[in-house]
Amino acid sequence: LLRLEGVTVRFGGHAALDAVDLEVREHETVCVLGPSGSGKSTLLRVVAGLQPVDAGRVLLSGRDQSGVPAHRRGLGLMFQDHQLFPQRDVAGNVGFGLRMHKVSRAATERRVGDLLELVGLPGAGRRAVGSLSGGEQQRVALARALAPEPRLLMLDEPLGQLDRTLRERLVVELRRLFQRLGTTVLAVTHDQGEAFALADRVVVMRDGRIAQTGTPLEVWCRPASEFVARFLGFEN
Ligand code: ATP
Ligand code: MG
Repeated sequence: LLRLEGVTVRFGGHAALDAVDLEVREHETVCVLGPSGSGKSTLLRVVAGLQPVDAGRVLLSGRDQSGVPAHRRGLGLMFQDHQLFPQRDVAGNVGFGLRMHKVSRAATERRVGDLLELVGLPGAGRRAVGSLSGGEQQRVALARALAPEPRLLMLDEPLGQLDRTLRERLVVELRRLFQRLGTTVLAVTHDQGEAFALADRVVVMRDGRIAQTGTPLEVWCRPASEFVARFLGFEN
C-alpha cells in the first residue's frame, strides 16, 4: 500500500531521513520506534505530504505522490501536537472529516457517538475542546483520525500523554479495532511496549536510517545491532 524509496530529507547539513526504504502492506500495522530526533515524525510528515523530500519518492497504492496535496492522499493523521479545532466542540472535531466527505448528518452523529465510546469519552460530544484535559484531547484527536476510515492511518505518539492504565487498555482496543476494520497503520512511538503490542512489524530508526525492521519477536529475540539491543534495554 505504502512504499518509500530512497527518501532523503535534509535540514541544513543534517539528514533527518537518509535514503529510507520502507514498505507497509495492506492491513498491516507498522510501528516506528527510535530515540528522539531519529526522524520518526519527519517520516510521517513526508508520507502525509507535509514535508518535501530532497531525494527519493513516496508511493501509495503504486502511485507516486509527488505533487499530490496532503488532503488528497486519503490518510488519517494524528500528530504529536494533536491540533484540535478550538472553535468546534468535541463532536464537531471528530465529525469534521465525515462532513467534508459528505456523510449525512445523522450517520455522522451515530459514528461520532461510536468513536467517542471507543476512545473512552462516551457522551462528550457537546463539550468544548478547551475544557478537556491533555489526555482527553488526545483521545478526541484519535477518534477524529479514525472517523473517515482512511486507507492509511498515521499516528505520531498517539497515546503519549495518557496514563499507563488507559494506554494499555487503548492499545488492546486499537489492535482489535484495526484488525476488525482491516486498517493499515503506520504509527510512531517512543514506547516499545506499545509498539510490540500494536505492531505486526516494527521499524527501529537511528539518525534518519532504519536500523532494523522485523516482527516484534524477531527484533526482540535477534536485535540486528548493538544499537538496537541497547535501545530495547538490553545490557550487552
Ligand atoms: P521525537 O521522538 O523527539 O519526536 P523524531 O524521531 O520524531 O523525534 P524528527 O522530528 O523527525 O525526530 O526530527 C529528526 C531530526 O530533524 C531532528 O534532528 C530535528 O531536529 C530535525 N528537524 C525536524 N524538523 C525540522 C525542521 N522543520 N527544521 C529543522 N530541523 C528539523
Ligand atoms: Mg517526533
